Amino acid sequence: MSIVLGVIADDITGACDVAAGVTAAGLSAEVRLGVPDPGRSPSSDCVIVALKSRTAPVASAVAESVAVARVLREWGAGRIFQKYCSTFDSTDDGNIGPVADALVDELGVWGSVGTPATPAVGRTMHRGHLFVGDRLLSESSLAHHPLTPMRDADLVRVLGRQTPHRVGFVPIEQARAGADAVASGIRDLRDEGVRHVLLDAVEDRDLDAAAAAVAHADGVLLGGAAGLAVALARRLGAGATPVVAAPPAGRALVLSGSGSERTRGQVAAFAGPRFDLDTDALAGDFDAVVAEALAFVRSCDTVPLVSATAEPATVAHAQERWGRERAAALVEDALATIAVAAVDELGVRRILVAGGETSGAVAAGLGVDVLRVRRVAAPGVAWTTATDEAGRALDLCFKSGNFGGTDFFTEAFEETGAFEEDA
Ligand code: ADP
Repeated sequence: MSIVLGVIADDITGACDVAAGVTAAGLSAEVRLGVPDPGRSPSSDCVIVALKSRTAPVASAVAESVAVARVLREWGAGRIFQKYCSTFDSTDDGNIGPVADALVDELGVWGSVGTPATPAVGRTMHRGHLFVGDRLLSESSLAHHPLTPMRDADLVRVLGRQTPHRVGFVPIEQARAGADAVASGIRDLRDEGVRHVLLDAVEDRDLDAAAAAVAHADGVLLGGAAGLAVALARRLGAGATPVVAAPPAGRALVLSGSGSERTRGQVAAFAGPRFDLDTDALAGDFDAVVAEALAFVRSCDTVPLVSATAEPATVAHAQERWGRERAAALVEDALATIAVAAVDELGVRRILVAGGETSGAVAAGLGVDVLRVRRVAAPGVAWTTATDEAGRALDLCFKSGNFGGTDFFTEAFEETGAFEEDA
């Protein structure tokens, strides 16, 4: 089977976001965790490789991304797409620019064309500036992100600081004039010596024009967030209704380590039994807290939630007391350990995980390396099937902190099988 779209994603929930979107658009999709073994060929239209490279040291982000590009090419991927966050999470050092430069060199193409615009989640590009809802990126909460504070909304300038090459943008008027106008805008910029082209897009129809302009363009690296990847899938997919499989039998569990506002709302709205993890208690006696959490899960006869999600002041207190990295590691290790023991000892086979870093830790703990989309649960969120190291079939849902409605922790387990735009 030839790969229609090969995606290199800088984190696991971003990879699952693309997987959910392209599946809903009619392409079969699988997520590979880490640089894949070239000997294990994929069996999907779209292969999305999830790295942990968003905030990794530049050199390792570049080396891993290039290694993934080689494998995708070896597998015959026609198009390579560099997936980054729809809020362009990065610093002046990278990693979006250096990775794009390295991929352009590796693929032997003239440059890159992409956009973080994803109107479905309120990310729009206008005059090369990124908006989050009604606000400029630099005036949104992302300006205060602890690792990648986005204090400039002019992405031509932002990306320009990350690459020695020229950056330009194709304005919204050209998207509105259609695919040919976008294609000619890209050509003009390329002829002027621009290496990285960003595209304005405010609505999905602008992304559709962009996708039509680049879907069959050889010799370019594609890039952006889920919006453009999904628009490409709409263009390239068979238009088939995604196959919705039944979940495996077994107990279910929700694990939350995200600190995002959306997830805080989901935890608060969850009506089932909940066990709160406390960083002070974990630092005091990790094994005892994990054992207590497992005893709690064992005792529940409805889907339980084990959560470290807390108000910003509580997280700040934990970080002051234990250090940011140690506090995060305590939570991530605890949730990963609980996931593994719940599968090994309690018959849990279905796990919903909230939070990007948290998802990475749980996936690594479970030892899974291929996720196949089973069902789209909400825009940007999918249930996936995976086989662990012991050969057990697991049903896993890795959700970015910001995704899903308020009642997602309950609704995600309702097997309606339908993809609803406003779910
Ligand atoms: P999101 O996708 O919302 O950013 P992540 O899982 O990527 O969620 O990031 C949340 C980070 O905060 C993780 O590293 C997690 O371990 C850490 N964390 C979660 N809860 C707490 C807490 N109560 N105290 C300190 N750190 C926490």
